[in-house]
Order: sequence, then structure tokens, then C-alpha cells
Amino acid sequence: EATARRGRNARVFAIANQKGGVGKTTTAINLGTALAACDLKVLVVDLDPQGNASTGFGLTRGDRKRNIYKPLIEGGAVKECVVPTHVPGLSLVPSAVDLSGAEVELAQAEERETRLRSALAPLLGDYDYILVDCPPALGFLTLNAFVASDSVLVPLQAEFYALEGLSHLMRTIERVRRAFNPNLEIQGVVLTMYDKRNNLCDMVASDVREYLGDVVYDTVIPRNVRISEAPSHGKPVLLYDMKSTGAQAYIKLAGEMLRRLRGQADAPAMAS
Ligand code: ADP
Ligand code: MG
Repeated sequence: EATARRGRNARVFAIANQKGGVGKTTTAINLGTALAACDLKVLVVDLDPQGNASTGFGLTRGDRKRNIYKPLIEGGAVKECVVPTHVPGLSLVPSAVDLSGAEVELAQAEERETRLRSALAPLLGDYDYILVDCPPALGFLTLNAFVASDSVLVPLQAEFYALEGLSHLMRTIERVRRAFNPNLEIQGVVLTMYDKRNNLCDMVASDVREYLGDVVYDTVIPRNVRISEAPSHGKPVLLYDMKSTGAQAYIKLAGEMLRRLRGQADAPAMAS
């Protein structure tokens, strides 16, 4: 067994939804932290020029001098941009405001869709999971995340318009699959900011499950004030208030995700 596991081989997740404020960054930070708590080595890549994931881990401006912009646009090793966080086993590649120009610069660049994939390739052996926190758009940055990823995880806010825009997201993923990355899959959809006292939330949840089926995680992330407070302390909610319903939900989500992935990995092994 020991020889079978020579080094790691990271599974790369794009956490994406072109809508803003649906819980992408919160999910990248807290799912990443929950996975690291399971003794897995995790890298979060902050691909949003707004840099909320970097802020959420308490990074100062100075901590972001080296960020994803350079490897993506000018070339250079991502390895040199990796910074540790307060979470044991979890490292981060920060974003910076420079990245707001990257969308336009990528549009004119060669290999404009595959740059992140090439940049991350040398790191795959160092991590179990790489989570890419995407900006709220389906531009070249998110496209790069899709090309670089094995899977897409889509946070959906449990609100009336939850499904709006999803077909555009699906079409984009399908295009990436055809042109660059045939194995890209939507690994999961997670309902966020769920309020069980709100009847509309229930209706939205059952609509989403009916429309998308098994891809929707059983675990839902509740609306929880501790989740929204944590970033201002520069901490994942798991460190800020471990007992909160928000922290517990992300621990549960990580467990469900690992069970699903194990199920996939087991299938070919059993057949052979
Ligand atoms: P996105 O990255 O999709 O734009 P964020 O993760 O930044 O979304 O979340 C948007 C805002 O909602 C943030 O202020 C965040 O703290 C808050 N938030 C996210 N998830 C929850 C939740 N489950 N409960 C309460 N607030 C949340
Ligand atoms: Mg975000």
C-alpha cells in the first residue's frame, strides 16, 4: 500500500458561479479548512481580483506582494507565491488588485485559456486538494480555472433566482470540456445561506434538487452570522467559532465530498 501512494496528486476544484455573493469565497475558505482538518494538504488559489479569500485568511497587503498575477500573465513559478495560513496544512496563493487587469490582458495573450493549468502543474504533487476561488464572471479567469480543474463545485444561494444563469454556466463548462478538458465534471452543487424558517428556501431547495438531481449535496450551508463575522477577524469560521452551525455545516460538507470522491475512486479499482 505504501508504495502505491508515492507522493500526492492533487484534485483541482474550481469553485464557480458567475453570480456574486452566493458563497464561493466562503466555501473556498471553509471547505478548504475542513479538508485540512482531515489531515489533507490543501492549497486555495485566490483568482478573484477582489481578493476576498486572501482577506478572509487574514493576509495583509504586504503578504500579497507575490500573487497569482505574475505566474498567470508574466510567467514565473506559482510555488514562489504560496504563503502559509493560520490553518495547519492549508496554504494560499493570494490575489491582488493587479489581477483586475488580467481579464483584458489574457484576452490578448497566447495560450490564454491554459495558463493556470500550466502554472499549477508543478504543484500537483504537493497537495491533495487545490481549490480555486473564481471571480463572479465567466471571463478568462474563470475559464482558466475550468481548464485547470478536475471538477467544478457550484455554490447556489437558496433564493428565488438561484437557477437563473445556471444554463450559461453549464454551457461554458460544456465548451471547456469539448475544447480543453474532456474530464471536467460538475462534482457538486451546494446550497448556501439556507434559512430553514423561510418557506421560500425550502421551495427553492426542492426545485434545485428536482432540476439538478444527485449532483446537489445533501449538506446545506445555513445562513449563519458567525460565517459572515469570521472574515473580519481574518479567520475561517472553523477557527473563529468551531461550534457554530456554519462551521459544523462545512465540516459535514467536506465529509460528504470525501465520501463521494472515495466512491468514484473505488469503482475502477473494484472492476480491475
Ligand atoms: P462570493 O464569493 O460568491 O461573492 P461570498 O462567499 O463572499 O460570496 O459571500 C458573500 C457574503 O455573504 C459575504 O459577506 C459572506 O460573509 C456572506 N456569507 C456567505 N455565506 C454565508 C452564510 N452561510 N451565512 C451568512 N453569511 C454568509
Ligand atoms: Mg468571492
